[in-house]
Amino acid sequence: MIVIVLGAPGSGKGTQCKEIAKEYKINHISMGDIFRKNIEQKTKIGVEAESYINEGKLVPDDIAIFTLETTLNNDIDLLKGVVLDGYPRTLIQAKSFDKYLEEKNLKVDKVINLTISDQEIVSRVVNRRICSNQECGEIYNLKNNPPKVDNICDKCGAKLIKRKDDNEKTALNRVEVYHAQTEPLIDYYNKKGILTTVMGMGNLEDTVNSIREILDLQT
Ligand SMILES: [Zn+2]
Repeated sequence: MIVIVLGAPGSGKGTQCKEIAKEYKINHISMGDIFRKNIEQKTKIGVEAESYINEGKLVPDDIAIFTLETTLNNDIDLLKGVVLDGYPRTLIQAKSFDKYLEEKNLKVDKVINLTISDQEIVSRVVNRRICSNQECGEIYNLKNNPPKVDNICDKCGAKLIKRKDDNEKTALNRVEVYHAQTEPLIDYYNKKGILTTVMGMGNLEDTVNSIREILDLQT
C-alpha cells in the first residue's frame, strides 16, 4: 500500500503518519526528517536545502525529487508499502512520483488530506515539542498532546526540544506557501479519485480512527 498524507505543517501529519506506519507495518518516509538529518550531517543535499527550510520556503523541486528517489532506491522496499509524509509538495513532484512508481508497476493507492484551520496550525506549530533522542523522535503538543512530565519524553525519558523553525512567523509563512503551492495537489489526486479529506481538528484518537477506516478499505 502506498499512501500519501497531505496536510499543512502543524496539521498533525507527522503523528498520523507514524500511527499509519505502525498499524499497517509499512515504511514511513518523513521528508522533513530526511532534510534535517542531511542538514545536520552537512551533506550536499543538506547544504542546498538548509537556507530554504530555515526561511520557511519549499525546497526546490529538483532537490526534493532527487532526495526522495535516492531514499527510495537505497533504503526502502516499496513492495512492503510506504506512507509519505511531507512529499509531494508540488504538482511537479506529484507527477514525477507517479512516473517513478509507474516504472515499477506501482501506483499511489490512497491520499489522505488532513485539514485544519490556519489559526490552529500556527498554534500547534508554536506548541510543538519533539523528543531530542533521534531514535525516538516522539512528537508532542503542549496543548493537545502534552508529555506526562514537563519537557520529558514519555517513551524514552529524553529531553524535549522545540525546533528552531517552529515559531509564529515561520509558521505563518509556511501556511501561505502551503496554500499556494500544495493545494493544486488536492485537485490532482481528487480527479484520480483517490483522495479523502479528514478533519484533523478533533482529538488525536478520533483522527487516527477516521484514517484507519479509510485505509482498512485498501488492505
Ligand atoms: Zn523519546
